[in-house]
Amino acid sequence: MWVPIYIKHLFWAVMKTTQRVKSIHSLFDDYVNKHTTLAEFVEMYCRAMEKRAETEKQYDGHSETFIWKIACGLPCESFFQRYYTDVKFIDIQRECSRIMFLHCFQNAVTSDNVTEYTISDMVWCRNKETKKEYLTQCKRNYRVCFDMTSKLAECECSLFNYSSIICRHMIKLYDILGEEVPDRYILRRWRKVVLRKHTCVKVVYHDPSKTEHVVSYNEMQLAFEPNFSKGSVVKDTKQLVLEFLELLYIRMDEKRVMIETEI
Ligand SMILES: [Zn+2]
Repeated sequence: MWVPIYIKHLFWAVMKTTQRVKSIHSLFDDYVNKHTTLAEFVEMYCRAMEKRAETEKQYDGHSETFIWKIACGLPCESFFQRYYTDVKFIDIQRECSRIMFLHCFQNAVTSDNVTEYTISDMVWCRNKETKKEYLTQCKRNYRVCFDMTSKLAECECSLFNYSSIICRHMIKLYDILGEEVPDRYILRRWRKVVLRKHTCVKVVYHDPSKTEHVVSYNEMQLAFEPNFSKGSVVKDTKQLVLEFLELLYIRMDEKRVMIETEI
């Protein structure tokens, strides 16, 4: 419990110290036990990974096909509903649904552009057995600073730093101020359209070679390969390749934004 307090100023992108171990254990629970031999383990490993790839494919397909229902009607809730995968949208929706318990007070203008607010919130606790959160009668204040120039906010609870989910205090503030949530808080990795790299890798348990994404990926990889070869051996051409790729990345992002705004 003490860990989030001491590392909350850092951005951890949802990674926890025990996450990897727990994830791996649960993945192999149904396939491996203490009597499993090495030969059996290899086969079971393939089966487990095949199952995992299939499940992820189903989740991604579900996120693209179905749209989770709006609960609060906040503008930012609609936005996240449209672009985030189901799993992450549920987290955002939990924050949106708790906005009704918040009260916002303006404290002071701390500099030319930054204004400090206090947001009063109710305390939520988690039931150890059911793992569900419940509302208590206790209150807690959070300090939120808002920069009028950059439109960025920083909340004392630091939920975004260690969960990569914008907190309800910041959502409340953006709503009160009539400002849109900046791109900085909308992570590309949680978008429905993002193609996870591992889905392009052909391994024994997962053959994605027939998908449209993978065909395109392979074509581009082949087309780029001569440039990488030349860039790595011809003097002073590496920087040229890297600059071109950087420019290309920006142009592709511009194209993506254009397509998304047309949807
Ligand atoms: Zn907060």
